[in-house]
Amino acid sequence: MERIDTIVIGAGVAGLTAARLLVRAGRRVVVLEARDRVGGRVVTDRLSGLVTDLGASWIHGINDSPVAAAAAAFDMRTAEFTVGGYQVDSRPIAYYTPDGRRMDDAAARAFAADVHAVDAALVGIIAASEPEASYREVTERAIAEQGWAAARAQRVRDHLEHRAEEQYGAWIEDLAAHGLDDDLIDGDEVVFPDGYDVLPRRLAEGLDVRLNHVVSAVRWADDGVGIETSRGAFTADSVVVTVPVGVLQSDDFTIDPPLPPLHADALGRLEMNAFEKVFLRFEDRFWDDDVYAVRQGGPEGVWWHSWYDLTRLHDVPTLLTFAAGPAAQAVRNWSDEDIAESVLAQLRRLYGDRVGAPTQVHVTRWQDDPWARGSYAYMTLGATTSDHDNLAVPIGGVLHLAGEATWTDDPATVTAALCSGHRAAENVLGHAVPIESAWS
Ligand SMILES: Cc1cc2nc3c(=O)[nH]c(=O)nc-3n(C[C@H](O)[C@H](O)[C@H](O)COP(=O)(O)OP(=O)(O)OC[C@H]3O[C@@H](n4cnc5c(N)ncnc54)[C@H](O)[C@@H]3O)c2cc1C
Repeated sequence: MERIDTIVIGAGVAGLTAARLLVRAGRRVVVLEARDRVGGRVVTDRLSGLVTDLGASWIHGINDSPVAAAAAAFDMRTAEFTVGGYQVDSRPIAYYTPDGRRMDDAAARAFAADVHAVDAALVGIIAASEPEASYREVTERAIAEQGWAAARAQRVRDHLEHRAEEQYGAWIEDLAAHGLDDDLIDGDEVVFPDGYDVLPRRLAEGLDVRLNHVVSAVRWADDGVGIETSRGAFTADSVVVTVPVGVLQSDDFTIDPPLPPLHADALGRLEMNAFEKVFLRFEDRFWDDDVYAVRQGGPEGVWWHSWYDLTRLHDVPTLLTFAAGPAAQAVRNWSDEDIAESVLAQLRRLYGDRVGAPTQVHVTRWQDDPWARGSYAYMTLGATTSDHDNLAVPIGGVLHLAGEATWTDDPATVTAALCSGHRAAENVLGHAVPIESAWS
């Protein structure tokens, strides 16, 4: 049987980073990947002739970002697009009132100031909140403190509901009060006109990645690990498991002996979300000029409320919207055409007959992806931010969990995946290694 020091399960950014750092340190490493490609939730479609990032697209703040450093080292072209954190006024946004009229600049500024006032109040309210509190409960307290009339409060309430959905793919009542604590953006946000998948493809260069290997069982003991896959068994001294939370929680992936209570309890408090991208391409632009996004408030915006103008990336009129939280669950079994029609109905409220037929529609289906089971994990009621880091505490000296959901500082991101892979490599090696060795 071949001799392997460490098996890494999953060739997403976390697994590839861990594998690369371990190989750089002289370890024999095999990466086992269920799909027929590397990258996991960083995947770029080019079949349409255009570059479309179906999973991650943003670096949510490039200041001191290891992903930005890796992207620069790999010569990845970036485009500034600082509206990826559901900010209210980071860049020009066309806001529409519930009855479909565009807000003038003064009204939009007043609305943004209201959101900032609630956000300022939220900091203390969240810090003082009880463990089982939801994001809804804390935001309601912050709104109540302002003493506003009903319509003004409702406008901000809509925004906060949509922020929970777009940032975490969860309904505001299901998200823990602390669920957005680590959602800070430091510096500009950027996207990748040539595709985010360059990052995992470059990280994978030179690694022994075995594609189409579906892992079903991990057995661990003090003296090593045994791994069962659809293409035979493997043994090694240690294993780094980077499969998404939804796979870890499923019966199709067993760990024996089971995870210790620290890990099992933390895992039980996280849940994969419902979050899908809907891309619509058109012959002609019909929406507002010089804005990064268009947003619609009120009851008509319950599902489709925000459209991001991606035209600048490839000079093809393109809008991106999200089916997030309840909307993603409701349209899960709809055809692409029906989803597009539902989105277009809302656009027609704002732009009337100017809305042309889309030349291309692309809807992601992460909820039905067996190797993801959702887009990323969110904190359910009762979860604490440290649940993420607790998952990564080494088990028995041989079993290491990594991946976006195991990183407290900025979970649910590529950054979290990269940093968690770095930490897992250090834990396997028993000493520090510079993260830059993954790309230098
Ligand atoms: C729609 C969407 C939008 C997003 N937007 C952003 C964004 O703008 N910015 C951002 O920073 N992040 C974003 N994210 C999150 C980001 O993509 C993830 O946090 C990150 O890519 C996760 O990397 P990972 O290595 O932890 O997991 P993954 O990329 O999921 O890697 C895990 C790997 O394990 C494999 N696997 C699963 N089960 C098995 C098995 N049984 N056997 C073998 N292999 C298995 C999977 O195929 C996968 O390749 C987005 C994600 C989605 C889906």
